[in-house]
Amino acid sequence: KLDPKALRYMSGDDFRVLTAIEVGSRNHDIVPEPLIAQLSHLRGGSVKKHISDLVKRKLVASESGAKYTGYRLVYAGYDYLALKTLSNRGSVVSVGNQIGVGKESDIFIVASEDEKEVVLKLHRLGRQSFRNVKQKRDYFRPNQSPSWMYMSRLSARKEYAFMQVLHEHGFPVPAPVDQNRHCVVMELINAFPLRQIDRVADPGLLYSQLMDLIVRLAKHGLIHGDFNEFNILLKDDGSPVLIDFPQMVSTSHPNADFYFNRDVDCIRTFFKRRFGYESVLYPKFALDTDR
Ligand code: ADP
Repeated sequence: KLDPKALRYMSGDDFRVLTAIEVGSRNHDIVPEPLIAQLSHLRGGSVKKHISDLVKRKLVASESGAKYTGYRLVYAGYDYLALKTLSNRGSVVSVGNQIGVGKESDIFIVASEDEKEVVLKLHRLGRQSFRNVKQKRDYFRPNQSPSWMYMSRLSARKEYAFMQVLHEHGFPVPAPVDQNRHCVVMELINAFPLRQIDRVADPGLLYSQLMDLIVRLAKHGLIHGDFNEFNILLKDDGSPVLIDFPQMVSTSHPNADFYFNRDVDCIRTFFKRRFGYESVLYPKFALDTDR
């Protein structure tokens, strides 16, 4: 699916054509061939050949619109462009095993220039809905993918920006490494999601660490919005790391107390169910956050 070796086998001209299709898709759902030729600065005849190479390699798809047949970038092509950029910058030099399939992402262990293992997260927004669209192929034209790519890019940029801010302020999150298109490169955390953990040495301690985290975020004006056992990793020393924060909201949001309390309840419910741990102490929005 994600073939980093393919990076080596693409000619410079194939790459120019792929880039031209990406640029063209900013204002065309289906990019017409003459535009691809113009954007890639290659002569007409050779453009056709490069396009058909890219189609064969499933990096772009040909598609018939109402007025003309043209091409669009598909996720594999977008992956390729992002990987190429990240590899030029030395943030990703080789791709290893896939370690996770998130709800809306694929996660790989990769090596960076300094041979350190890091995590590559490829955002895949609309994957689930896109599947539904595909099943209904006869009813809908499934040409939404460029906008899903755009949404995935926004979501990767947002994740990276939050990760930078949280990391700078000393919150336990993976250290941000790099970002391009729909990809985020970050520190590899050697830990398991709380979801997979059946026993902890001191549930009360972990409980208060997590509640402190919720309160500290709020004191910085932020509510996680999806604070649960899937988004928290537990390191060997028992300390938690937050890995995913796609729904962060501001404490000045009109429903801030609702989101805050939901995060708190999520932890309380999980601790009761999983560890049989209950406490009368838990943070309350206005009281504990000075908001
Ligand atoms: P999604 O938002 O798509 O659900 P997540 O960011 O929650 O994806 O990641 C899915 C899984 O990948 C996590 O449960 C975790 O096991 C693994 N993972 C993600 N980021 C890291 C990381 N920085 N270090 C180690 N494992 C990670």
